[in-house]
Amino acid sequence: MVSAVTKHTAGLRAAEYLAYLRGFASTSAADPAEVRSVWSGLLPDRALVPTPTGRHALWLFLELAGLRPGDEVIVAGYNFYVIVRLLIQRGLVPVFADVEPDTLCMDPALLDGLRTPRTRMVLVTHIFGHPADMAAIAPWCRAHGLLLFEDCAHAVGTTVDSGSPAAGRQAGLWGDGALFSFGVEKLINSFGGGLLAVRPDLARGALPPAPAVPWTTSILDHLVRFAYSAATAPAAYRLALHPSARALRRVSPRGETAVHDFFHPSKDDPDYRFHEASRPPFKPFMTRMQAGQLRRLDENVARRRSRIARMRRGLAGVPGVEACGMDRHGRANGSYFALRVPDPRRLYTELGDAGIATHPREFLDCASLPQFAEYAADCPVAREATARVLRLPSHPLMSDPDADRVAASISRLLTGPHADG
Ligand SMILES: *Cc1c(COP(=O)(O)O)cnc(C)c1O
Repeated sequence: MVSAVTKHTAGLRAAEYLAYLRGFASTSAADPAEVRSVWSGLLPDRALVPTPTGRHALWLFLELAGLRPGDEVIVAGYNFYVIVRLLIQRGLVPVFADVEPDTLCMDPALLDGLRTPRTRMVLVTHIFGHPADMAAIAPWCRAHGLLLFEDCAHAVGTTVDSGSPAAGRQAGLWGDGALFSFGVEKLINSFGGGLLAVRPDLARGALPPAPAVPWTTSILDHLVRFAYSAATAPAAYRLALHPSARALRRVSPRGETAVHDFFHPSKDDPDYRFHEASRPPFKPFMTRMQAGQLRRLDENVARRRSRIARMRRGLAGVPGVEACGMDRHGRANGSYFALRVPDPRRLYTELGDAGIATHPREFLDCASLPQFAEYAADCPVAREATARVLRLPSHPLMSDPDADRVAASISRLLTGPHADG
C-alpha cells in the first residue's frame, strides 16, 4: 500500500459529516442567535453576523463602516488576491505594506511611511495563523483615527499577545471588525460559511446576507465541498486520491494539472469578481459542524503545533531550509506550516511523487501581481516569500511517523546525491 500524507484535513468526525448529511437538503439560512451562541465564547463583546463566506464578511463590513470610493486601505503585500480584488471592486485604493520576514504578517514599522490624508483603514491578515503585531498596529490606528480590520480566515485558535503578562487573546478582537472563514481548506471546515465579528455599534441593524441563489446551486455547492473534504481525509487520500492522481500524472500530466486546478483554484485569477449571490447562505448544519470542531479547538491546535515542532526538529540543519518565527506576537494555531526552501516548485513535485501533498504558491506578493499593476509597490520580503515558501501539511491527523517522514523526505531531497544547487 502506498503511504501518503494529505496536505490538509480539518479532521472532521462522523458526527460532523452526519450534521451535514441530515441538513444538506435545506436551503434556509441559519438562525443568527444559534450562530452567536456557538461563537460568543471565543469572540466576546462583538456583534456576530453569519455570512455565506469569509469574503462576504469583508464586503459587509466595508458597507457598515461607510468606506467611500477613493479611500485608501493599507494591506499586506503577501496576501490572498481575492481580498485585494474586493477592495478595488468597491472603489477603494489598496496601499501595499511589506511583511515581517519571520511572521509574514504586515510590518508595523512601515505604516508611518504609507499614511496619507486619504488613508481610512488598515487591513491586517494573520497569515498562516501567525499572529500579527497587533500591540503595535492597533494603537497606531487609534492614534490616527483609522479603522482596523483583521482577516482571521486562518486564525481561529490563534492568540495575540496584549503586551502585558496576561495570556494572549483570540485574534479578531483588536479592531473594528474581523472576518472568519469555514471553507474546506480552513482549520474549521463546514463546507462553506463565514462570520463577521464587528463592533456592536457598527453592526446595528445588519442582517445576515441571504443571497437568492437557485436551489440547485444552494445544494450542489456544499455537496461538492463535502465530496472534496471526504476525498482529502487521510485514509481516502492514501487509498484513492493519491494513487489516482499518480496514475493520471503518468498517463496525462496535463489531465492531472487540470484536476489539481479544479480543486485548488488559482491564487491569482485576474478575472475574479465578487458576486454576492455566488454562494448559498450560512446554513443550519454549519452551526452544528462548527460547534463540534470548536469543542476540540485546543486539542486541534496542540496537535498541529506539536507536528510542526517535530518537523522543525527534523529539519534543523538542513541547508537552505528556514521555518517562520510564527509565535513572535502571540501563539500561532499551526493551521499552516510555511517553510522557506530553495525551490518550492521542484520540491512540491518531488514530494508529490513520494506521497506528500504540499503547495508551492499558497499565497503571493499581491504588490507585484500584474492584475494589481495600477497599485504596484515594492515589497521585497513578500516577493522573496512568494519565491521561497512551501506550505507543508500540519493537520491534526498526522502521526509522528508522518511528520518524521515529511522532514526526512525534504532533508533527503535537499542533501541527497540527487540534490543539486
Ligand atoms: C480563505 C481566505 C479568505 C476568505 O475565505 P472565503 O470563505 O473563501 O471567502 C480570506 N483571507 C484569506 C487569507 C484566506 O485564506
